[in-house]
Amino acid sequence: MADTVKLTIDGKEVRARADMNLIDAAETAGIHIPNLCYLKGLKGSGACRLCLVEIEGLKSPMTACTTRVKEGMFVNTRTEKVQEIRKYVIDLILSMHPLDCMTCTKAGVCELQKYAYDFGIKESTFTRKKFGFPVDNKNPFINRDPDYCILCGRCVRVCKEQGTAVLDFHGRGVGSRVVTAEDKPLQEGGCTFCGSCVDACPVNALLEADRWRKGREWEYERYNSVCLSCGNACDTVVSVHDKDVAKVNAGADDGRARHYICAYGRFGFDFINADTRVMSPLKRIDGELKPISWDEEANQLG
Ligand code: SF4
Ligand code: SF4
Ligand code: SF4
Repeated sequence: MADTVKLTIDGKEVRARADMNLIDAAETAGIHIPNLCYLKGLKGSGACRLCLVEIEGLKSPMTACTTRVKEGMFVNTRTEKVQEIRKYVIDLILSMHPLDCMTCTKAGVCELQKYAYDFGIKESTFTRKKFGFPVDNKNPFINRDPDYCILCGRCVRVCKEQGTAVLDFHGRGVGSRVVTAEDKPLQEGGCTFCGSCVDACPVNALLEADRWRKGREWEYERYNSVCLSCGNACDTVVSVHDKDVAKVNAGADDGRARHYICAYGRFGFDFINADTRVMSPLKRIDGELKPISWDEEANQLG
């Protein structure tokens, strides 16, 4: 078993694996440290500054996603100082964001929306900026709308991690964007349409292309399932709306492992309602395959 350390987070004694960062360690004690760029199972990048916490003995707040637990550490995740910084960060992000949660497909599971709610921010106090970047929507699977992007970098890291690395940042500061090589659309940029970036994106910048007005997130029933497209049998989560599959995501994170699925597993479910789907047994009669009843089939098998 891995070494463990004992530390105190928000007054709670926590025993955590020695290689854990503070976000994961706090989670084991039921304490959520706000974050937008961290992805469980990948190295923290400290990009969004939302996970700043105060550690006794240190002058400046530290990013919890890049700070490892230490024996005897005293961590405070909700001090006035860090809450103020977090509010400021969300306020800044919202000044560059469309704010159309009323019709946004991501509403209900959007992490930015959640934090804006938590910090009680209706509208940014900064001057609003609108970029009007072109939307990449010429493929049947993924819609990429950079105007919603909050530059967290999760998609870039997850695309690298699962071995494709077709996404990266272009430009600097608030005008930067996530692009493919030579800023080509996804289908010309080497994308395999695994959709891992869709799972990772905390907002509406990357989304399944066919989701517009196909039900709200809170209307979906979710089922843990297994993909049957190949022998790997990857874990999936199937979201169902009005008895139809609305989307398939990779199985939920468990501990440190991230789940990845491929394009077949994520998008290959249109056969369910296809006109060509074989719904009953077929019997060759006079040289032609004809549908027969299940009873007839059972009788034939004896
Ligand atoms: S991405 Fe999130 S915050 Fe932005 S409009 Fe959609 S729900 Fe609202
Ligand atoms: S769908 Fe997969 S390969 Fe394509 S950009 Fe997203 S993570 Fe990368
Ligand atoms: S597209 Fe989504 S995941 Fe990628 S940087 Fe923007 S907000 Fe983050």
